[in-house]
Amino acid sequence: MSLDLGPHPDADGYGEALELDRNDPLAGFRDRFVIDDPEIVYLDGNSLGRLPRRTPGLVREVVERQWGRGLIRSWNDGWWELQLEIGDQLSPLIGASPGTVIISDSTSVNLHKLATAAVEGAPGRSKIVTDDLNFPSDVYVLAGIAETLGLELEVVSTGDNATAEQSVIAAIDEDTALVSLSHTAFKSGFTYDMTAVTSATHASGARVLWDLSHSVGAFPVDLESAGADLAVGCTYKYLNGGPGSPAFLFVRQDLQEELNNPIPAWWAHARPFDFDLDFEPASGIRRFHTGTTPILSLAPVAAGIADVADAGIDAIREKSIGLGEYLLRQWREHLVPLGFGLGSPLDPERRGSHVALTHDEAWPIARAMIELGKVIPDFRAPDSLRLGLAPLYVSYLDVHTAVQRMKEIVSTGAHTRYEGATSAVT
Ligand SMILES: *Cc1c(COP(=O)(O)O)cnc(C)c1O
Repeated sequence: MSLDLGPHPDADGYGEALELDRNDPLAGFRDRFVIDDPEIVYLDGNSLGRLPRRTPGLVREVVERQWGRGLIRSWNDGWWELQLEIGDQLSPLIGASPGTVIISDSTSVNLHKLATAAVEGAPGRSKIVTDDLNFPSDVYVLAGIAETLGLELEVVSTGDNATAEQSVIAAIDEDTALVSLSHTAFKSGFTYDMTAVTSATHASGARVLWDLSHSVGAFPVDLESAGADLAVGCTYKYLNGGPGSPAFLFVRQDLQEELNNPIPAWWAHARPFDFDLDFEPASGIRRFHTGTTPILSLAPVAAGIADVADAGIDAIREKSIGLGEYLLRQWREHLVPLGFGLGSPLDPERRGSHVALTHDEAWPIARAMIELGKVIPDFRAPDSLRLGLAPLYVSYLDVHTAVQRMKEIVSTGAHTRYEGATSAVT
């Protein structure tokens, strides 16, 4: 079967989408990305951002000139400082001062490093608090730390996004060493009030570690005004750094000399090229580095950050809300009658840049959207379809088109043939 890929000018909301696109101050940013097939509506930028046009040239420059010609001399011609330099470029997006952010390792490894540093820096306190909205992998990392160090991990059952804050705050007590949460929840898109949770954590004498993976680049974060202690996050989602690009970590200035890196490898040493057998930590944020920076995957992160910085994080957030609210109007009009529910908060103030729709047949619908509809969402078990609204390249017309294609798939039953489909990555 073939699907009417649109546009669908007769369907409700079409004129509104065109009008919103005409008035969109960020509309021109779409041209900064490689859009190989204009029929594809890409709604998975919250998992893997699109390829910025500047990135292939940047990678070519790093490979051919810096590596090919510069050889090992390139470490002294900029590579050695690159993780700090790009960290400083990223810091304004998350409300961090220069010298508090580095690009290093993966989010999982950074979480492990900073969570371990925090609990080892709180002797006598025996509990780590997280919640059931967190990315399960983060919970595995925290459980591993708790097991190794003989601590208790409390995974707070939030039950409902709306009461998550109260439930988490109620679990923080005098025994708590660390509270570690995702700022924006990966499944529902619920976003915590960072200031409220950070203050409550500090009132009990504990520290807080925020995972910003689903916020950074789409949602303005102000770590320092919230008083946050520690943070980590991905660069390959809304920052468009490329598959597996290295992650970032933040350690507030006054904690940098107080906490210890649990993987004190040579890049965290004060004088790595002395090759002294005794470890002496570097001063500043460098102390939280580990081993050699993966330059080929680090370099494109700068291009991704630059696009976000040029657009301005507040303008990005405004469009993100606009796209989300438009999607919800379209959902009510066209998708609720077909059995789609909402897995995200209705209040845009409490929602990141993706919207989760729920449906009993979400899995075959997701497959049909990709295979027949050229709409790329992702599926999160058991019943969520996540629609990522990356404001730099998703248009209002994209949202209209995606909803119309979903409507046609479900109303014709076209998805039922994908019921038995399997896929390693969902
Ligand atoms: C995407 C994501 C990760 C991914 O971690 P990796 O180490 O890059 O695989 C971790 N935590 C959260 C909250 C995420 O959204």
